[in-house]
Amino acid sequence: MLDELGEWRKTHYTKDVSSELIGQEVILGGWVRNYRDLGGLKFINLQDKYGERQITLKKGVVSNEVFEKIKVGYQYCIMVKGKVKDFKKAPGGIEIIPSDVKILNKTPEKLPIDMTGETISELDLRLNNRGLDLRSLKNQAIFGIRGEILRSIRKFLFANDFTEITTPKIIGTATEGGTELFPIMYFDREAFLTQSAQLYKEQLSGVYERVFEISPCFRAEKSRTKRHLCEIFVLDIEMAFADMSDVLKNLEELIHDVIKDIRANQMDALKLLKMENKTIVPEIPFPRYSYDEIIDLINKKFGITIEWGEDISTEAYRELGKELTGYYYILNWPMSLKPFYIKQSKDPKYSESFDLQMGWLELTSGGTRVHNKKQLMAALEVKGLNPAVFESHLRTFDFGMPPHAGVGLGIARWLTFICGLDDIRDAVMYPRTPDRLTP
Ligand code: ATP
Ligand code: MN
Repeated sequence: MLDELGEWRKTHYTKDVSSELIGQEVILGGWVRNYRDLGGLKFINLQDKYGERQITLKKGVVSNEVFEKIKVGYQYCIMVKGKVKDFKKAPGGIEIIPSDVKILNKTPEKLPIDMTGETISELDLRLNNRGLDLRSLKNQAIFGIRGEILRSIRKFLFANDFTEITTPKIIGTATEGGTELFPIMYFDREAFLTQSAQLYKEQLSGVYERVFEISPCFRAEKSRTKRHLCEIFVLDIEMAFADMSDVLKNLEELIHDVIKDIRANQMDALKLLKMENKTIVPEIPFPRYSYDEIIDLINKKFGITIEWGEDISTEAYRELGKELTGYYYILNWPMSLKPFYIKQSKDPKYSESFDLQMGWLELTSGGTRVHNKKQLMAALEVKGLNPAVFESHLRTFDFGMPPHAGVGLGIARWLTFICGLDDIRDAVMYPRTPDRLTP
């Protein structure tokens, strides 16, 4: 028999039950992370969205009725009404002595994955049961940090005169060329899921000057790596009356401030992930290397040959990441490796572009954009793209596009790094990969 919610409402979250509430009655609700039954004494670790508190039931101290009623299993959904008591040995130095309990939902005796935190079940098994798995203390830490990242990014950008934009995710034509697109049916026509907000954010930099968007993009890449997903969540930034140097400065300040906020507001999460000594506030400005310097280093130091104009291979990045462990920029890539909207350097072989790296991993790509329509049309042709397809985008460039520059940052890649995770799928609530469309 299950209890009804009825008139019961939580008075507090676990995090709010502090020593100031000792002697008071509270109502908490959540899930049973762990429990122990020692005969005359029962302990329950009650977990909610912020953390957990210990519920202590001692025969003779709580009523017989409550004592007998409490027969819980892992992840039972319960509510507890009880008095706050100090108890040094309990987590947070506090325990709850219940006067009444509601069992709102039960679970099978054996859960598909370990939820006590004692062992970590295999990733695919956890993903199959993600709605349960996300409740684990480790995931609570990972996604607590993700929440802080998103809050802190917005705080930083709003304080710096950026406007938050939203742009269409269903598009009629391929935006950039290059990456594979997912086709969809749009009534009786073919359309696509967007691969990036690039063209729209550029257009809107001609309206709101400094813009950002945090939104999903879709990449139909059949790459089964630990850093690629088919649905990605990207921070896109575009700045008018600016070039690459402004973006480099702005981005490193943003990263610096976000890590500072994570350390200030999510230290418990960092500690749970054992990252408190690794995810430290980086010094700015970040080290800057040119593409030429990097391939030279790779050739000389690691004996891996990369011809000028070639992309840097994963193998080479892995080696590089052993040498350069923190955040660093790679600047001035060959124009041939960059998309059409990136501006050429004075030497047209090069481009005003950059990647931000964290060790071996690419975190962002960005650069100065072309704002001159004739040059943009020429650039499209060089890349073998048909200007007619970009007609409506190009029209914007007739109406006074300002010089502009910007960057795109994959949130999950960054979160993987910050949390010290091995696989990007651990950094997404419901990852989409070539092999996974559910849950
Ligand atoms: P990569 O070369 O690593 O595949 P990219 O250069 O194709 O990435 P961009 O088009 O520059 O990616 O996208 C901007 C950012 O979005 C990247 O720097 C990265 O952080 C993130 N990103 C891109 N593709 C993916 C993906 N498939 N899965 C997860 N994150 C991605
Ligand atoms: Mn890139």
